[in-house]
Amino acid sequence: MRSIRLFTDAPLEPGHTLTLPAPAAAHALRVLRLKSGDAVTLFNGDGHDYPARLVAASIRDVRAEVTSRASTARESPLQITLIQALARGEKMDWIVQKATELGVARIVPVTTERSEVKLDAARGGKRLEHWRAVAIAACEQCSRNVIPAIEAPVELSTWLMTTGATEPGSRWTLHPDGATCARDLQATPGELLLAVGPEGGFGENDLDALHGAGFRGLSLGPRILRTETAGVVAIAALQALYGDL
Ligand code: SAH
Repeated sequence: MRSIRLFTDAPLEPGHTLTLPAPAAAHALRVLRLKSGDAVTLFNGDGHDYPARLVAASIRDVRAEVTSRASTARESPLQITLIQALARGEKMDWIVQKATELGVARIVPVTTERSEVKLDAARGGKRLEHWRAVAIAACEQCSRNVIPAIEAPVELSTWLMTTGATEPGSRWTLHPDGATCARDLQATPGELLLAVGPEGGFGENDLDALHGAGFRGLSLGPRILRTETAGVVAIAALQALYGDL
């Protein structure tokens, strides 16, 4: 049976016993119906797995003793940042989940000229917390032990002004008319930035701002993909060609 993975944001050390945080404790008890003595794997995003054993499993007290530390490399040599225009409804959850499974390093939700979704600071903060929980759940399921960074939603042009320099040829705007296709990209290990437009596509100002920040057009073929398809397809294709798929 595949091991049960539970996330905690506490430091983990073999030999130490810790109380599991409420979400992991509830999951262990109510969903998985674990008992004292059962084996689990803990992770906190530091790149290691921590095999552990439950030493208490009651409603008020769920504790685990860490038995060892395992170094299991599951991160891709391509550190992909997905700059995703906010999509409606549950599409963003789907994008965060799939991008996490496919090994993305960072997700930056952005608003653009034609964004249908706008978030004020309070709602943006709530969504961010929710997306982080989605990414953690995806890591529990897919055995990743590094949680992708998810940034607070921000306007695309504002975010572009704050990005530092990256290697030439590492910034790509996904666009059906892009002059380059995935096969011709010749990515080398390192950082790769991918910008995906919203349901209505990028506007002229967005494309100018991206171009000014060194982004070039990347095409995913002759069919127009939905925003929730485009990023996932690009990540899968690039991981297969230059990463770890
Ligand atoms: N109605 C819009 C389509 C937007 S699709 C338009 O005509 O422009 C949403 C986003 O997915 C696009 O902004 C782009 O970033 C990406 N996308 C969709 N199909 C693509 C393709 N064939 N190649 C590259 N990117 C694509």
